[in-house]
Amino acid sequence: MSFTQEKKCFIKVVAIGDSGVGKTSLIQMFENSKFTENFKPTIGADFSNKEITINGRVVTLQIWDTAGQERYQSLGTAFYRGADCCLIVYDITNSLSFENVINWKNSFLNKSMVVNPEGFPFMIVGNKIDLENERQVSLNEGEKVCKQNGDLLFTEASARTNQNVEIAFQKLAANALKRQ
Ligand code: GDP
Ligand code: MG
Repeated sequence: MSFTQEKKCFIKVVAIGDSGVGKTSLIQMFENSKFTENFKPTIGADFSNKEITINGRVVTLQIWDTAGQERYQSLGTAFYRGADCCLIVYDITNSLSFENVINWKNSFLNKSMVVNPEGFPFMIVGNKIDLENERQVSLNEGEKVCKQNGDLLFTEASARTNQNVEIAFQKLAANALKRQ
């Protein structure tokens, strides 16, 4: 985290999770209030910036999205390096994506080489709650895993209906700010 002036700072957010869980869709909704069906996974830069206000302080979130490399577990260390917080997404209609959440967390901690992993800000997002009738992972299971793995921040959300999208990023960024 670096300060350019007294009340301004940058927070690097890294978004990970299995392919197809909705990482790009959540970021698009948060940044542009747009949901694009079948968004091409390879489009876009490594990261994009979004300015938000947290407790009266202007904060620039630098959000890093993959270009589809998560499918081959080939995300380089540059992707992770210097992260101030991490968003891990799973799809509530895909139990395998949920089982992989803790693997993603471990990958992140290994590759980012975070100096103080204790209490590092992770936000776990169970996405696609608009697909309630296809649900494979209960709210309770989500909460439980997050509690058991160091009280990780947790919410369910939908990039399609824009449910809990903003609050997920806001909460994560607020926690990253607290650690500065
Ligand atoms: P990524 O690979 O994790 O970046 O996932 P994408 O954002 O590319 O989304 C994968 C697919 O899931 C796309 O077809 C999206 O339209 C769809 N999708 C993403 N978020 C949601 C959601 O909240 N609800 C529903 N129903 N579909 C979603
Ligand atoms: Mg994507």
